[in-house]
Amino acid sequence: MSFTLAIVGRPNVGKSTLFNRLVGKRLALVDDQPGVTRDLREGQARLGHLRFIVVDSAGLEMAEDDSLQGRMRRLTERAVDEADVCLFVIDARAGVTAADEYFADLLRKRAKHVILAANKAEGRAGEGGLLEAYSLGLGEPLRLSAEHGEGMDELYHVLIPMAEQF
Ligand code: GDP
Ligand code: MG
Repeated sequence: MSFTLAIVGRPNVGKSTLFNRLVGKRLALVDDQPGVTRDLREGQARLGHLRFIVVDSAGLEMAEDDSLQGRMRRLTERAVDEADVCLFVIDARAGVTAADEYFADLLRKRAKHVILAANKAEGRAGEGGLLEAYSLGLGEPLRLSAEHGEGMDELYHVLIPMAEQF
């Protein structure tokens, strides 16, 4: 019984940091430069008793042309189509952006299941963004801090009923 979880969201929200935490190795490159992950990385994740495949994506890009961004976007769309569950990450400190709203729509149309997570929510700086996240219409956001390991227990509990479907 296994499933595939794709971590998606615009660049720099902390997808690779979360991927590394789930996989327990420093496989994905974490960088202050947006969009550092140019391809898809796959790893075996452990969370409580759950074992699943996790995919770190390049970061959803709005470009649809033949540029690097366009290619990254198509790779990410493929990851969305192939995943059983998409973990849609936003930056709680930045709040909901136009790009987040755009991709919330894309995920609503394409993804089988979506879990919304507001990352960088350690301390109080993320409180506004966490509240704003409800406006995306994807249900209650998980409060995460990938860097500090907060919210992993809540993620585990949200994944359990989904894991049972596969
Ligand atoms: P990605 O582009 O979505 O893969 O984002 P990265 O994982 O590369 O992280 C982008 C930046 O955000 C890096 O500087 C990370 O250290 C930082 N970051 C990631 N998670 C957190 C978090 O939970 N809290 C804070 N404050 N920063 C974070
Ligand atoms: Mg990355």
